[in-house]
Amino acid sequence: MNAIVPPAAAATPALVDRFGRRVDYVRISVTDRCDFRCVYCMAEDMQFLPRREILSLEELAAVAEAFVSLGVKKIRLTGGEPLVRHDVLWLCERIAALPGLRELVLTTNGSQLVKMAPALRRAGVKRLNISLDSLDARRFRALTRVGELAQVLAGIDAALDAGFERVKLNSVILRGNNDDEVLALLEFARERGTDITFIEEMPLGRMDDRDRAASFCSSEEVRALIRARHALAAVGDDSGGPARYYRMPDSAIRVGFISPHSHNFCHLCNRVRLTVEGRLLLCLGNEHSADLRAVLREHPGDRAALIAAIVRAIELKPERHHFDLAAEPQIVRFMNTTGG
Ligand code: SAM
Ligand code: SF4
Repeated sequence: MNAIVPPAAAATPALVDRFGRRVDYVRISVTDRCDFRCVYCMAEDMQFLPRREILSLEELAAVAEAFVSLGVKKIRLTGGEPLVRHDVLWLCERIAALPGLRELVLTTNGSQLVKMAPALRRAGVKRLNISLDSLDARRFRALTRVGELAQVLAGIDAALDAGFERVKLNSVILRGNNDDEVLALLEFARERGTDITFIEEMPLGRMDDRDRAASFCSSEEVRALIRARHALAAVGDDSGGPARYYRMPDSAIRVGFISPHSHNFCHLCNRVRLTVEGRLLLCLGNEHSADLRAVLREHPGDRAALIAAIVRAIELKPERHHFDLAAEPQIVRFMNTTGG
């Protein structure tokens, strides 16, 4: 006897790419703007997109809804700095309420958390990733070009008080800049019971004032610095993400490493990214993309057209990225426009 396929299931194609990878995680950039200018993320004289080119909050919500109807379980809001977009809480509430979504999470530089952490939690954001590259105020200013360390540390405390399911710190480690702070950053995370991930710099966007290769610090070097003080035992992770996680015997926190250069995680990739101008990027390290803004604006309110465009786009997802620090950057967009 033939199995009966319920109509809802038949009408909802899962997002599976040509290599059998199921896409169930979308990272949405809600703005390319930011109140910081981190040296590895932006050029000093960054040009931001004019307003008409960026998706409205309603358009972003429509794309999120289409993805969730296609089986996406997790959405991360990022940027730029997502918390500088006016009315971002409205978008959080809309997305968090989508039936079928398992979690809405957000990545932030922490600058707005003192005033926004409780409201974000109430709006349905479950977890936060907060960037923190240095515990030295002068150095923090140099790395972010304009950031105030005290404001971010207070923001981290506000996030811990607001009751998120998890707060994780992200640190990009650069040789000669903050590689001597790896143990201090780890200690900061241990004291607060937050996970921490150390990230290798990725060559996104052209920078004439910096030599990315000269300050590159591999995850292997960071792990060696930590192992001089703490035993690290690898733990499995089923998030399909790029990070490899470890635990220490005397702490509950996880220590992650994102190593796009030394650890190719492409075969497990379960994610796509939406830029704020509505470009659906199928891979962080490739330019393959689909223009969802054109679909949204040529067929306003046409959910079926949007869903069809997303399903077609998944076909474009490339097999892997090819980052090479020694070569000219092949990816010309900066991380803030990509949605890191
Ligand atoms: N503004 C928010 C923040 O800083 O957390 C969210 C957006 S930011 C682009 C997301 C993450 O990307 C941050 O943790 C940042 O450190 C990281 N990032 C930015 N540029 C990068 C690069 N070139 N290589 C590796 N990580 C980068
Ligand atoms: Fe802004 Fe985040 Fe990029 Fe820093 S890493 S410039 S905080 S978007």
